[in-house]
Amino acid sequence: MDHPLRAPLEIEFDYTRSLGPVLSEFMTALAGRRILGARGADGRVHAPPFEYDPVGSAPPGELTEVGPEGTVVSWSWMPEPLEGQPLAGPFAWALIRLDGADTTMLHAVDAGSAAAMRTGLRVRTRWAASRVGSIRDIACFEPCHGVNAAEEAGAAEEAGAVTGTITPVRLSYMHTASPGESAYLRGLADHRLLGQRCGVCGHVYVPPRGTCPADGVPTQEEVELPDTGTVTTFCVVNVAYPGQRVTPPYVAAAVLLDGADIAFQHLILGCEPSEVRMGLRVRAVWSDSGISHFAPTGEPDAAYETYARDL
Ligand SMILES: [Zn+2]
Repeated sequence: MDHPLRAPLEIEFDYTRSLGPVLSEFMTALAGRRILGARGADGRVHAPPFEYDPVGSAPPGELTEVGPEGTVVSWSWMPEPLEGQPLAGPFAWALIRLDGADTTMLHAVDAGSAAAMRTGLRVRTRWAASRVGSIRDIACFEPCHGVNAAEEAGAAEEAGAVTGTITPVRLSYMHTASPGESAYLRGLADHRLLGQRCGVCGHVYVPPRGTCPADGVPTQEEVELPDTGTVTTFCVVNVAYPGQRVTPPYVAAAVLLDGADIAFQHLILGCEPSEVRMGLRVRAVWSDSGISHFAPTGEPDAAYETYARDL
């Protein structure tokens, strides 16, 4: 038997959000080397500031400056930092109670070694060389060693209002295809569509799942399917996004291959989006890497009853 296929996969996008009045003020202050907190109804100062008081639900009044020094309340050592973390070398994640605050803020402490970290350690803010109005304007915290952070910080600079933030999100992992999926992928390379039939209910699944979701039994009988099928449902994509390979508007459809009992999603090209309809007969257009898209065959539409069960 052939070995299952493996490939590295990466999903990434930029999460963009507006900050709202409280966090806009907090981020704008960071660009000016000031850390702000909010006083709650119970008198406690929260840093970072809350947007709505956890006690009374009201938005905070005037924000108050805290830090730039603080005390480590709890910590955990990070011996091998991951890509994108605040420091490239070993560091501590710590809950830091800034002077003037009653709550803690999670940030990195550049202590040099785990032996230098302890609860109660006095730390000060190390500002990033260039600041843009982001939590990363605080590069990290570092042990005080008798230096007064307030004196070293110098005068705060004027900065424009920061009203939004972009957080890059990235997930990188190794995907191992199941034996059935591996056979399906190898088939695509040869321009063949391979599914599997359930020995109990007789349903044909493509791509194969390895088991029948209805009967819970392994599916082992391999079935080769033609590259023709029927559009059961579809949507017209009108939204542009980074990395898009087809210019909108275009159609993404559920295509039920002839002989299959479950539809799969693919592109419908080769006609105007307005011409795509339920029951449209389509055929795969192959490329070197598999199916490029499906296009109309010109046959009469399939009768509704022939695919109604698969909607
Ligand atoms: Zn079954």
